Amino acid sequence: MKIEVDKIKREPLRICEDIPAGNWDIDSFDIKFLKNIRLVGDFCKIDKEILVDIRVTLNRLITCSRCLKEVEQKINKNFELSYDAVGLGEYLEVDKDVREELLLDFPMKVLCKPDCKGICPECGVDLNNQECACIEKNDSAVKRQKFTISVAGVLPRRKGKKKTKQ
Ligand SMILES: [Zn+2]
Ligand SMILES: [Zn+2]
Repeated sequence: MKIEVDKIKREPLRICEDIPAGNWDIDSFDIKFLKNIRLVGDFCKIDKEILVDIRVTLNRLITCSRCLKEVEQKINKNFELSYDAVGLGEYLEVDKDVREELLLDFPMKVLCKPDCKGICPECGVDLNNQECACIEKNDSAVKRQKFTISVAGVLPRRKGKKKTKQ
């Protein structure tokens, strides 16, 4: 998305552009961008600063890190970029900064939905769709773990004095 700097005034000027997702080369191993990236930019100039209000709409195919399902997601993002009007050339090109903003925003863990239950590590069923018999077993495993932690927590306190002498 490119704009002639002279055309940017105080009154916002809107530009819309569809960019084929492949052009930006931002796919990662668990996120693939589909179709076009829709960019809407409102450009305005206040004193010597150029402000760009960016709205991005994109479609992506993600592989959920918990249940391994492939899910198509439509994402909307809104952020603002600012530039010093002094020193800009004839044109202002924002694609690089928008791309960077999208990359920074990539989630560490890609999930099909925030509360994805994942697949059971024991029997492999998708816990979003059904429960499995392993759940009870897992529950008691968790309880056992908690118990050992609380016991372990008591012991060092008893030995505390010894430890400081060492
Ligand atoms: Zn999932
Ligand atoms: Zn199971």
